[in-house]
Amino acid sequence: MKQYILSLDQGTTSSRAIVFDHSGSIIAGSQKEFTQYFPKPGWVEHNPVEIWETQLLTAGEAIQKAGIKGEQIAAIGITNQRETTVLWEKKTGKPVYNAIVWQCRRTTDICNELKKSGLEDTIRKKTGLLLDPYFSGTKIKWILDNIPEIRKRAEKGEIAFGTVDSWLIYNLTGRHVTEPSNASRTLLYNINDGNWDSEILKELNIPGAMLPVISASSGYFGKTKRELFGAEIPVTGAAGDQQAALFGQTCFKKGDVKITYGTGCFSLMNTGNRPVFSKNNLLTTVAWDLGGGLQYAIEGSIFIAGAVVQWLKDKLQIIDSSPESEKLALSVKDTGGVYFVPAFTGLGAPYWDPDVRGTILGITRGTNRAHIVRAALESIAFQSKDLIDAMEQDVKLKVKEIKTDGGASLNSFLMQFQADILNKSIILPQTAETTALGAACLAGLSTGYWENIDEIKKNWKIRKEYTPDTNDAIRREKIESWNRAVKAAETFKA
Ligand code: ADP
Repeated sequence: MKQYILSLDQGTTSSRAIVFDHSGSIIAGSQKEFTQYFPKPGWVEHNPVEIWETQLLTAGEAIQKAGIKGEQIAAIGITNQRETTVLWEKKTGKPVYNAIVWQCRRTTDICNELKKSGLEDTIRKKTGLLLDPYFSGTKIKWILDNIPEIRKRAEKGEIAFGTVDSWLIYNLTGRHVTEPSNASRTLLYNINDGNWDSEILKELNIPGAMLPVISASSGYFGKTKRELFGAEIPVTGAAGDQQAALFGQTCFKKGDVKITYGTGCFSLMNTGNRPVFSKNNLLTTVAWDLGGGLQYAIEGSIFIAGAVVQWLKDKLQIIDSSPESEKLALSVKDTGGVYFVPAFTGLGAPYWDPDVRGTILGITRGTNRAHIVRAALESIAFQSKDLIDAMEQDVKLKVKEIKTDGGASLNSFLMQFQADILNKSIILPQTAETTALGAACLAGLSTGYWENIDEIKKNWKIRKEYTPDTNDAIRREKIESWNRAVKAAETFKA
């Protein structure tokens, strides 16, 4: 009897594996960090072999801790850090360069050159993305342009490219394949027709022979080599981390939204079977393909969310731990008129200004650290509100409730304030590991382990719901002051 699903959650700083049962509950898990390489300022790399080895190790440990055997696993689902770029030799499976991580800014000049040649508009319409070093395409181009030997071999068809899902699937099954949610982060994938885009490939001078085959996110990718887990387990689900979280939060319908409050903050709204192109600097992306066609999402991110709490702790040193921020915030009745715009690395969507810097406004003799801490937490909620407003405008619908997860979603003050300022319900799930759960669900759905999405929805339980508890006048006044604070911040640039 195949009773379990194994989910592999390959993140930016660690690889994790979780065994889920049929009720969607966690049976066991394992996590291992791996090395971050910073060869130059702004550059970030990983060793692809270490990514694979830590992933394999955690998978083995999770299976062992669950006290089960490989043959009891019905299917494997994969979720991963997105955009990170791996190139390997098709014949041997050996990487030919370190993985260039999504955070790496080395292709800024390439992006600027491409902008000059007027490519941005085409990119936007075809891929839903911006010309930014974040995405895989210019990372591949950088390797090919800088290491002629690799370009020569790529042109001969000897080199494979993959995002991390594809790299893991290759190592698990020997097949070179990816799926649309990851493909839609490469800059090379046309989200309108669901294919690699030959015009963009030509502009970036990337040989099409390097690219993986694109299969559905929930569907058969291959089966694991027997020596890995003592059984040939089918790999039947994969999605990028944010899309997997959207699925794990059961945001299956158009208009369903999730926000993940981590170091930064990622918000995705399901937009159904049509891509919505933003007028507010949001990205358009593929949510998943369950085998019946592409489903889309609109995505916005905040650079500094939980990171502002880390800053209060590590740099300003006015709190000893992240959870202490909640206690302090609740020790005062409001911020005493203080507003904090944590634009430490510029402002993301919808403002999109990399040169703005952080600022704290409205300080008086009466201001104490509790007011500053409270204002910092409120800033996370205000920024999220700006994103949700932009989404509602772009998609032309009103959101009623928002599912949340991530480290900072454990802060009750923040979640209540978020509900108040958005005037919407904020819902936390029973299973906090929504990303891994999403990948498990994609895998289980394809094999019939779960019959349909209704069954998955039934398994999904609410842990806590925050409902709005303030009046319109107060809400309006706070939002207006926040807007003025952002305007003030925008006048003082680096
Ligand atoms: P990531 O996946 O980006 O590393 P996590 O989801 O693990 O992020 O969340 C970690 C972030 O959440 C940190 O920035 C931390 O400061 C913040 N955080 C954790 N707990 C709390 C809390 N109780 N209140 C506010 N912020 C918190």
